[in-house]
Amino acid sequence: MLIKAINLFSSPLSGKHSLRTVLIVAFVSQVIAAMGLTAWLLFYNGQHAVAELATQLRNESTARIQQHLKNHMAVPLLVNQLNAEAIRLGLLDLTDQAYLERYLWNQIKQFDTLSYIAIATEKPSYIGTQTPAENIFYLEILDETTQGHLEIWNTNAQGQRTKRKQILNNYDPRDRPWYQAVVQAGKPIWSDVFVYFSGAGMGISANHPIYNQQGHLIAVASADITLLKISKFLNSLNVGQHGQTFIMTRLGGLIATSTTEEPYTINQVTQQAEPLKAIASRNALTSATVNYLMQQFGDLKYINHNQQLSFLHQGKLQFLQVVPFQDQLGLDWLIVVVVPETDFMETIHTNSQVVLLLFIMALILATLIGILTARWIVQPIQWLDMAAQQLAGGKWDQTLPTERHDEIGNLAKSFSKMVEQLKHSFTELETKNAQLRKTENNLIKWLETLPVGIFVLDAQAQPYYMNQVAQQILGKGIIKGAKSEDLPEIYHTYIVGTDQLYPLDRQPLLRALQGEPSTVDDVAIHRVDKTIPVEVWGSPIFNDSGQLDYAIIAFQDITERKQAETTRCRFTEKLAQLNKQLEEYSHTLEQKVLERTVALEQANQELQKLARLDGLTQIANRRSFDETLDLQWRILRREQLSLSLILCDIDYFKLYNDTYGHIAGDECLRQVALAMNRASKRPADLVARYGGEEFAVIMPNTHPDGAWHVAVEIQQEIQQLQMPHGRSPFGYLTLSIGVSSIIPSQTCCPETLINFADKALYEAKEQGRNRIIIKTI
Ligand code: GH3
Ligand code: MG
Ligand code: MG
Repeated sequence: MLIKAINLFSSPLSGKHSLRTVLIVAFVSQVIAAMGLTAWLLFYNGQHAVAELATQLRNESTARIQQHLKNHMAVPLLVNQLNAEAIRLGLLDLTDQAYLERYLWNQIKQFDTLSYIAIATEKPSYIGTQTPAENIFYLEILDETTQGHLEIWNTNAQGQRTKRKQILNNYDPRDRPWYQAVVQAGKPIWSDVFVYFSGAGMGISANHPIYNQQGHLIAVASADITLLKISKFLNSLNVGQHGQTFIMTRLGGLIATSTTEEPYTINQVTQQAEPLKAIASRNALTSATVNYLMQQFGDLKYINHNQQLSFLHQGKLQFLQVVPFQDQLGLDWLIVVVVPETDFMETIHTNSQVVLLLFIMALILATLIGILTARWIVQPIQWLDMAAQQLAGGKWDQTLPTERHDEIGNLAKSFSKMVEQLKHSFTELETKNAQLRKTENNLIKWLETLPVGIFVLDAQAQPYYMNQVAQQILGKGIIKGAKSEDLPEIYHTYIVGTDQLYPLDRQPLLRALQGEPSTVDDVAIHRVDKTIPVEVWGSPIFNDSGQLDYAIIAFQDITERKQAETTRCRFTEKLAQLNKQLEEYSHTLEQKVLERTVALEQANQELQKLARLDGLTQIANRRSFDETLDLQWRILRREQLSLSLILCDIDYFKLYNDTYGHIAGDECLRQVALAMNRASKRPADLVARYGGEEFAVIMPNTHPDGAWHVAVEIQQEIQQLQMPHGRSPFGYLTLSIGVSSIIPSQTCCPETLINFADKALYEAKEQGRNRIIIKTI
């Protein structure tokens, strides 16, 4: 209950329990806690008290037993001491039989703890008094008159023999074990526990040797006590209700017990007492106790001092104390006290029952008080609760228990006031709500008329609104509770032209949720029957405080635009292809034109070259000669440098042709041309066929000396040809050479230079041919 109560208050779900339950549980829990704690303390302290009580009881019991046993066992010693002293001092005459009888008879009457007093002599003689039962006394006599037999006599009230009860034949005390033992010890000792001569019981005797002044043994004084007397005392002790005490020897022989059991058994056949081992006791607790001690110590001889122990017997705890009891005469016993715990627990159990009863009564009382208190507190609250529920249902006219003057009454009054305010606010709110609904309806109508899809999320990223166009494009409406990150998957939005879902970080709706406007046109809605490319605009909508209220996206189907773009792209691509082809063709054409132009130019150059070359000799022709001379003339005129000209004419060439034929003549002309080329080494020089068998050399920037030198070179080259000319007076082919040189000026012209060269040539012919004539201007 307590744990339940703690759970009730500590649990975050405690609000699910009714106030009435909570209050009652609180009351009852307190009672349970208080009473439980008290009961536990009582029980705990009780147990401690029991343990202490048990210890105390055992200590007291053993102390009493020890004290009693000490006193009890001291009596026979004392009596023997008295008798021995009396004999030694001569106060007691061992020969006075009649006196001895009366003396011992009186003595045993004085010491009721003794069962027997005797004096045996070495004579041998024996006189003993025995009290087998209360007020019964026997005399046992052995003297000269009994002729070696022991006579047992009844006695009268004066201690005089009355009737011989029994005769034990041939009795000699000196043969008895107790006598022999004390004689051997030479000092007072205890006998072993023995069975009475009569066999009717067991006892123990203290024996005292008596010596004369010479140190000779003259007699033995003996006094007995019965074991039953010790048991009787133990029995008189009150050790708890079921506790017991017993005394045993170190060998485990039972000496006495507080139970009704005798410390010996009677043989059913011989009717003789037989010693009883404590472990073999018929009393289960006695035997269990000894058994436990044997287990604990292995041997009883190892118990050397007071032992406080406990053990379980038949499932119940037993408090045990064992104490050695020893004296100077060799007595060595163990006193055992054993008390069951239940003897002490009874009171505690009684107390527990009383506590339980009180506990139940307190519990009932607390529950009743709890119920009444709960009702007193809860009932008005329930009224308030009902009133609140009625209010929630729109019933404003509520009567509340405002007549109370306590906190509940105050609460009811406050509640009533609050209801009034609420009623007022509610009316206002309804009016505003109606306006708001109207505005919202209008807004939705407007949004529905738009030709684009509209999708709105609220600030919590929850789908809020979607117009018809949006539903048509997306193929589905709002999915309530859908997470914003799942929207691309729900509405199958992919990157256009791929099977890849549109990335969240690029989604205009999610970007709008983060306050970022965006536009994308690479989104495609994958519907079952078709794929719709869309363009999406995302915008965040903020309230007056600057906080995000909604995220809105508008989107439209751009299939046609995309198709147009595709067509345009294809057309542009085709155009580019054509353009490229055209460029390639144009390039080829240009190449060809270029090639042709080069060829033409080459052909032209060839033509020009051919036009300026002499066909036979392959040197410059007359046209080239004229152009070059004109050009050089103008150049050198500007530079005012010398221009020289050589004109050569083969001597007697007509005759050569006639002699060797025209073909040979042609060959001759080619050889002369080559020879002139060899002689004319400067690049600016031009060797030309001037006409027929006449050749010329234009030498720009050449003084007359140079021109002369070239003319000589030509002549030598021709000479070296050694071309035979049978019809020439020289026998070989020769040239006549005319040289002219001039610095061109404005006043003259190239023809002047030619004329001078021609004149020089004419003179060379005139002067016999095969020579050089120079004319400078
Ligand atoms: P001279 O010593 O006075 O110069 O006498 P010549 O015979 O050389 O002079 P002429 O002017 O009378 O003769 C020139 C000859 O050169 C006439 C012509 O047959 C010859 N001739 C002119 N051109 C060519 C040609 O191209 N080939 C050949 N084989 N002969 C040509
Ligand atoms: Mg000529
Ligand atoms: Mg000639």
